[in-house]
Amino acid sequence: MTSTLGARAPRLRGARALFTGRDGGVSTGDHASLNLARHVRDDDAAVIENRSRLAAEIGAPLVFVDQVHSADVHVLPATGEAPVVTADAIVTGREDVALAIMVADCLPVLLSDPVSGVIAVAHAGRKGLLGGVLEATVAAMTELGARPGDLTASIGPAICGACYEVPEDMRADAAARIPATASTTTWGTPALDLRAGAVAILQGEGFAQDAIDADHPCTLEDERFFSYRRSATTGRFAGVLRRA
Ligand SMILES: [Zn+2]
Repeated sequence: MTSTLGARAPRLRGARALFTGRDGGVSTGDHASLNLARHVRDDDAAVIENRSRLAAEIGAPLVFVDQVHSADVHVLPATGEAPVVTADAIVTGREDVALAIMVADCLPVLLSDPVSGVIAVAHAGRKGLLGGVLEATVAAMTELGARPGDLTASIGPAICGACYEVPEDMRADAAARIPATASTTTWGTPALDLRAGAVAILQGEGFAQDAIDADHPCTLEDERFFSYRRSATTGRFAGVLRRA
């Protein structure tokens, strides 16, 4: 896919999807340039312009949520205005809006059922993943008519299991809930592989093995993306999804 915002298009079925990077926006300094978050001390006018460019790119108004590392899922009203609420996942069957989820090391997870037309985006960091945000998102999609066996997923750029260092007890706690998350850094210390954990959860939810696209860069290693671990003052990029 060609995109003026440097997006890497995942192989989702039934939806148009993209992951933004740092290029293509108007923010400067630590937020250069396509920062999409309003809570990270960037110039608000710049963020509004960046969001406007992204909406033009995807061809529909963007719906964001105020993300708080919860497992709360926001199902959009069937028509009309989509209010900004506090949640970490958004679900809809609507075609007139695009869903956006912001990250800078956490997993941006995009989900689409090409049969029912139900789509979703989710923000899954350590806390959200362990809290069940992906299971809650799939449950909300199912309630709108999606079937797990029809679902496709793309898990975008995020910090990898060889970089995401955590204390030993944190790794043990995570592995007790999702064994696939246990990992080790390249320098030999305890780490978490959130991507492997997300794949395991989606497979457990009934996704077909070939329906999950998880081959995306590590945000800490790849400077095309914002990374909170690289710099605490930074922007957020987004996974964006619109029903095709
Ligand atoms: Zn890495």
